[in-house]
Amino acid sequence: MSTGRVRVRFAPSPTGIFHVGGARSALFNWLVAKGAGGDFVLRVEDTDASRNRPEWTEGIISALDWLGISPGGYEGPVFQSERAGRHAEAAAGLFAAGRAYYCGCTRDELAARTGNAQHGYDGFCRERGLGPGPGRALRFRTPDKGTTVVLDVIRGTPEFPNDTIEDFVIARADGSAVFLLANVVDDLDMGITHVVRGEEHLSNTPKQQLLWAALGTPPPVWAHVPVIVNEKRQKLSKRRDKVALESYRAEGYLAAAMRNYLMLLGWAPPGDEEIVPFATIEASFRLEDVKPSPAFFDEKKLRAFNGEYIRALSVDGFVAACEPWLVPAADVPAAVDAPAAAGPGDGAAGVTTTVPAPPWSPERFSAEVFATVAPLAQSRVAVLSEIVPMVDFLFLPEAPTDEAARAKTMKGPALDLLTEAAEAYEKVAWDHDVLRETLIEVGERHGLKLGKAQAPVRVAVTGRTVGLPLFESLEILGREETLRRLRAAVERLGTAANPA
Ligand code: GLU
Repeated sequence: MSTGRVRVRFAPSPTGIFHVGGARSALFNWLVAKGAGGDFVLRVEDTDASRNRPEWTEGIISALDWLGISPGGYEGPVFQSERAGRHAEAAAGLFAAGRAYYCGCTRDELAARTGNAQHGYDGFCRERGLGPGPGRALRFRTPDKGTTVVLDVIRGTPEFPNDTIEDFVIARADGSAVFLLANVVDDLDMGITHVVRGEEHLSNTPKQQLLWAALGTPPPVWAHVPVIVNEKRQKLSKRRDKVALESYRAEGYLAAAMRNYLMLLGWAPPGDEEIVPFATIEASFRLEDVKPSPAFFDEKKLRAFNGEYIRALSVDGFVAACEPWLVPAADVPAAVDAPAAAGPGDGAAGVTTTVPAPPWSPERFSAEVFATVAPLAQSRVAVLSEIVPMVDFLFLPEAPTDEAARAKTMKGPALDLLTEAAEAYEKVAWDHDVLRETLIEVGERHGLKLGKAQAPVRVAVTGRTVGLPLFESLEILGREETLRRLRAAVERLGTAANPA
């Protein structure tokens, strides 16, 4: 099937978390399809029944949706497991054509003959003329001579001498096709023109290209996108690194920031700016410009990106984006896009992720109060989940207890300072400027600059050493509650100083 139309696919195996590398491959494929006015197919490679769970497929679909690749905008999902008949047919065809042969060698037998099974299969059954039978796998007969040259848009023309490619298994003894064959048959049947996938598959490519040839079809255009590494230049691993897209989402990364950042893992937009609207990315992305060298996943940079995207939201957009962290069981909306970066799709409803419930009881939360502090908080959070420790003092019955913060600030003149601040705050106008001036005066009496004087007040009222601007916080919390917390701190300190 070759219509000249570009057709790409994203072919994840649903075997657990959805890796940021998978997300990047999906985006690159999506942009290839978009750029060429072609098609994007989602193919779920679920043939490993022991490692598949339906919820992992759902997770992939939901994560793609979050990134702006929404169901309805692509073909599929097509499930590889439903195509087993076609894989078997292709395997039988290759056998009938003499391109594959049955092999009954066990691993141990091979090791005994070669001394080291690592060298690959030695061709023992090549000319034995075996038919199918128990314990017999089907192996592809690789050419003895010549070279397989892979045409890779990103990597040039890596060459693989055919005599280094072993006669590899294409179907197991139970008849089921292995990844190498199933993947090729599906790409072929689906008319895939460009295979854009992770560099780790490059070693499979010469084998797969031989299969394409044996099945009588020219291979697709290959593009192996660079491996993603951590700060130690190690390949990102799910055991060591934070690689699940879901964890970033649950921590409060915006889809638009994530999408923009993922695009930089191997590619760069034209010009000096890295934070660019998705429309610019769509207009300028070319596979040819992707660099082959390993791409560093810089979490700090991603955080900084996210902070910028958060600041670019309207206040209303920010309030809406924070909601899942503030109101239990609210959905994380997909459409938490900075206006400048609005991307493909605007995020469908129903895209959800799980975030921890806030520490306050729901009836204590006030959307109105939150809306008042939102503009102050928006410039101070890098990820949305940070909103919780920043505003919890407003919705909890007491200032949260942080012993370390108390130990750091509730000493020296703190007792006198808090006592005097509470006294002064009983009478003054309840306005942040007045509250600041008042504390400056109190501090001066103790030879303290404002920075020092406000530290115990902040801890007494908010429980934290850092947070929103203090005097605005006091103004919003209100006189009565502020005084109650100041007095409670005075009492704690007094008791500590003069234990009964
Ligand atoms: N299912 C394979 C994987 O998740 C993808 C193979 C491909 O893209 O060709 O690694």
